[in-house]
Amino acid sequence: MECDYLVVGAGFFGSVLAERIANELGANVVVIDKRDHIGGNCYSAEDQETGIEHHLYGTHIFHTSSQKVWDYITQFTSFNGYHHQVLTKYKGVVYQMPVNLETINTFYEKNFTPTEARRFIEKEIEKENIVEPKNFEEKAISLIGRPLYEAFIKSYTIKQWDKNPQDLPASIIARLPVRFNYCEDYFHDAVWQGVPSGGYTMIFENMLNSSGIRIRLNCDYFECRDEFKVKKKIIYTGPIDRYFDYRYGKLAWRSISLEKKVVDVEDYQGTSVMNYADLDVPYTRIHEPQHLHLERNYAKKQSLIFFETSCNNPMEPYYPVHTQEDKSNLKKYKSLAKAEGNVIFGGRLGDYAYYDMDKIILAALECFEAAFLNV
Ligand code: UDP
Repeated sequence: MECDYLVVGAGFFGSVLAERIANELGANVVVIDKRDHIGGNCYSAEDQETGIEHHLYGTHIFHTSSQKVWDYITQFTSFNGYHHQVLTKYKGVVYQMPVNLETINTFYEKNFTPTEARRFIEKEIEKENIVEPKNFEEKAISLIGRPLYEAFIKSYTIKQWDKNPQDLPASIIARLPVRFNYCEDYFHDAVWQGVPSGGYTMIFENMLNSSGIRIRLNCDYFECRDEFKVKKKIIYTGPIDRYFDYRYGKLAWRSISLEKKVVDVEDYQGTSVMNYADLDVPYTRIHEPQHLHLERNYAKKQSLIFFETSCNNPMEPYYPVHTQEDKSNLKKYKSLAKAEGNVIFGGRLGDYAYYDMDKIILAALECFEAAFLNV
């Protein structure tokens, strides 16, 4: 099969570039994916038993503060008014997460005002004498103090990453805001947020619906690359270490498994995501996707839930672990990638990065501008 550009992977990075290249440059693009569907880990579908739209790789909420990303993505979908709020269960009690004034007051059985709560938590933090946080644990304690850290963060993080939080980077916890007010929003950077009204898969269908784009599914690049004659460039969004045949060893990834259950209740937990902070509860969260689409008025005889458990599954890489060894090997892989003239690497797997969806879209738009415009 001959093409100008071959895009390996039909997730956001690959699909945005395919769309831009086909529609802006009028070039001929083939998109391949080893899975039997487009959309990467954002893929959504209607559950056959209940009719409820769900995200097969875990709940995804679109959120961004980038006007550029918002203007781009809304060409392909509208969003419903969903605002993400997460709760966490610790020793049988439900708290708000990320930590806010409600969490602090419930946990300490107080009625602090915002100023009182801030002073109280500052004192908790001072007890620890952390000058410059060097790892996840120190960073978390320097944000909320030890008791809240030990209740809501420590065990959850051990379950999610299977690592001592002292061996994880501080950047992971910096994703979560801490609030001394009653704001319940999960994201701190969300000028716009929601779930695509028609589901995520429809975004990808709309993006890739171009006369210049052909799609081949169930096609593993490493097994079928000889079938393609690529005249210009390859855009590779698979794992960077796999591309170079693991020359410097495998980069570590953490994965998840989702166990589906249909329950005979109208509403199982009253919210889309409930976290489980206790170490003796094996799962990290329960997802209940009916709450993502309140506008759909699902027939409510049954609800669909998913138990999320973290695991190591090299076939389904989700979260880059970023140990010191990973960091040093990544540097070596990146310099190999730089020298690979006709290949553009990108996306979560290609960059070995913990990206939100909007960051991938922005990276893809900027990559297109840098690599293809004004040349
Ligand atoms: N985290 C935690 N307790 C929670 C939620 C998150 O300890 O109830 C920590 C955990 O280490 C996680 C990190 O915060 O990896 C970032 O959480 P986020 O919800 O952003 O993770 P994601 O949704 O990307 O899995």
